[in-house]
Amino acid sequence: MSAPQTLMVFIDGLGLGPVDPAINPIYRGYSPRLADLLENHAVAVDPVMGVKGLPQSATGQTTIITGRNASEIMGRHMEGFPGPTLVPVIEENNLYDRLQKSGFTCTFANAYYLKDMEELYRRRHWSVSTVAAMKAFGWVRNAESLLSDCAVHQDLTRAVLRERGYTGPIITPAEAGGHLLGIAEQHDFTLFEYFQTDLMAHKGSDKDIHRVLSELDEFINALLPFGRRDGCLLILLSDHGNIEDSRSRQHTMNPVPLVAMGKGGERLKDKVLRLDDFAGTLLELYHTSPVRQIRMTPK
Ligand SMILES: [Zn+2]
Repeated sequence: MSAPQTLMVFIDGLGLGPVDPAINPIYRGYSPRLADLLENHAVAVDPVMGVKGLPQSATGQTTIITGRNASEIMGRHMEGFPGPTLVPVIEENNLYDRLQKSGFTCTFANAYYLKDMEELYRRRHWSVSTVAAMKAFGWVRNAESLLSDCAVHQDLTRAVLRERGYTGPIITPAEAGGHLLGIAEQHDFTLFEYFQTDLMAHKGSDKDIHRVLSELDEFINALLPFGRRDGCLLILLSDHGNIEDSRSRQHTMNPVPLVAMGKGGERLKDKVLRLDDFAGTLLELYHTSPVRQIRMTPK
């Protein structure tokens, strides 16, 4: 079987919770397509991985992108940004580098609203996704990429950028989805990171939470055709729960959803029981590919 062309959307703070609108905002009608995906097309993945406490982002995201159990390495679930222990783990084990070494093209589709790389270097803390992208590519998409629709901003519509002096158009989540598809079509593996779900579940009003779910729903809907295309694989995965339980502002102990539609998707859903199963299983889909064999035996 040849390797899939993968589009992966990482969604921060989205767990599998009860199908009860009183508790779970996903079932309040703002995100019908997301609700259907979670109910009928997702498998439950364990983000706790045998480590005490509530799962957190720095360790969860490191685990997703490396396949190493970062929570076990740290001895706890760690929130926020990766530190001196996790940064080398990301640099040495990230999916991008491992795919690139086998000849596959990879990219991180998020736009950083920066004029130049110097601005990024001046930031004291880098997220897991920034560490991985900078290690693998040495650059990230910037303001210019965003204005030419060759990048997607983390909030999809760019509305949050108004405060930062952005004067370009505000776009619809469906348009953002279209831009992401354009990027995914040009690479073997594309990752996009969305974290408004976790942010609003921590700090937003009900109205904010419902708006974010509605935007995410429209965005995902625009991506669904990718999962039906020949040779393509559409993945949704989260690092821990949060938004699915309105009774608390904290992360939850719920399993997270893995949606995998298209080529290799069933295998991924069969094999990935915990977050640290993900990267290795995804790599297997690429390593079992005849692409390398074709390259080794040229005509
Ligand atoms: Zn959080």
